Amino acid sequence: MSKIVILGGGESGVGAALLAKHQGFEVFLSDQGQLKPEYQQNLVDAGISFEQGTHTLSQILEAQEIIISPGIPEKSPIVKEIKQKNISLVSEIEFASRYTNAKIIAITGSNGKTTTTLLTYHLLKEAGLKVGLAGNIGQSFAKQVMENQHEYYVLEISSFQLDRCFKFSPDVAVLLNITPDHLDRYEYQFENYIQSKFRIFQNAGAPQTCIYWSEDPVLMSHAQALPKHAQLKTISFSDANAEMLIQNNQLIGRSQFHLALEDAPLKGPHNAINMSAAILAAESVGIQLADIYQALKTFQNAPHRLEPCGTWNGVQFINDSKATNVDAVYYALNSFQQPIILLIGGVDKGNEYEVLDELIKSKVKGMICLGTDNKKLESHFGNICPQIFSTDNLQLAVQKSIDWAQAGDVVLLSPACASFDLFKNYEDRGNQFKAMVKLLQDGE
Ligand code: ADP
Repeated sequence: MSKIVILGGGESGVGAALLAKHQGFEVFLSDQGQLKPEYQQNLVDAGISFEQGTHTLSQILEAQEIIISPGIPEKSPIVKEIKQKNISLVSEIEFASRYTNAKIIAITGSNGKTTTTLLTYHLLKEAGLKVGLAGNIGQSFAKQVMENQHEYYVLEISSFQLDRCFKFSPDVAVLLNITPDHLDRYEYQFENYIQSKFRIFQNAGAPQTCIYWSEDPVLMSHAQALPKHAQLKTISFSDANAEMLIQNNQLIGRSQFHLALEDAPLKGPHNAINMSAAILAAESVGIQLADIYQALKTFQNAPHRLEPCGTWNGVQFINDSKATNVDAVYYALNSFQQPIILLIGGVDKGNEYEVLDELIKSKVKGMICLGTDNKKLESHFGNICPQIFSTDNLQLAVQKSIDWAQAGDVVLLSPACASFDLFKNYEDRGNQFKAMVKLLQDGE
């Protein structure tokens, strides 16, 4: 019996193990850390052997194929060993997609993946399709494929998953944008990361639809890498021939789709792109315009993405904790007309802040740096922002923001950085911020 090894026992790894077993492979799962008790139970119940706290090379290197979790870097010693032995190394997405005939919409980009994936899923689900949501989000794709419940999948795909996709060929592929992120995993070479994102289109031929924002500067500088034979659908702020034109505060589709942005469920220019992508994806699988209009009315985005979290003395508080790179902050600043007090900082991922300079000058009345890498922010924005305060304490940060704010201002948590210095993760950072705002309101 051929053997499949799974590296990493999180949601995607355990799902892949269950599917592989179901397909009749001998399966072994190896995780250098500890598995959650429920995952251990899933493996035991399915009769799958596994190890924790170590990688036993002899067990791993006898596999015919290895499925690797996105959290394990290409540079890790175990991956080096596997590459030396030339064993096939694939992602859960690549593996699971072999075992389903369902139609797949796959969404990638540096920013906007979750928002666009959730909205696309919502549009399909509300139209009555049997649709699963997976990838970076929710339940493992492989597990859902094994359970065979869905006729459609909407997948949020990260660059790490794409790095280990070879034949994966979604029916609809969406590439939202490409800006620097995760460069620590790409030898600090932006080009490597760009190549990774383009893999979403690598197998697109005549039957497939590829959707992208045609004004993304990086994407357009690599236009030769766009698939030649697929159906290309573009989103644009200026091109009247685009499949979806964003103009005069409206979304105008070639399909006759028409929506005033003031009636749209998501705000800001970046979300106009995300909504366009989701609507075009839904149209591509045959959803009727009437169903799309109806479903748009009931969409609610996930928290921590430009999430309004209350007002206090006329000051509006916005939690954008998921903004973990500079581009997301750029769009956050662009989404408000009012003066902004910006809470920024955390663990710097090799950020370059120049693109924010003009917006900081014109919109930000005070910057509060919150994290371990404050020095870089202070030295970059020292001459640009009228006032800067640095701290490693969220409570002091919020206190300073209300000292500076006047009625009508916005206090925006949009960190541009990872959260692991002071918080468990971006959710924890956002939740603690929201809790502080609540305390302020309760003390009124
Ligand atoms: P991802 O899953 O790619 O991280 P999210 O939808 O979770 O994307 O949003 C992450 C952050 O990026 C949020 O701060 C959000 O406001 C911002 N954002 C969302 N869509 C875009 C976009 N198209 N371009 C730039 N920033 C975006």
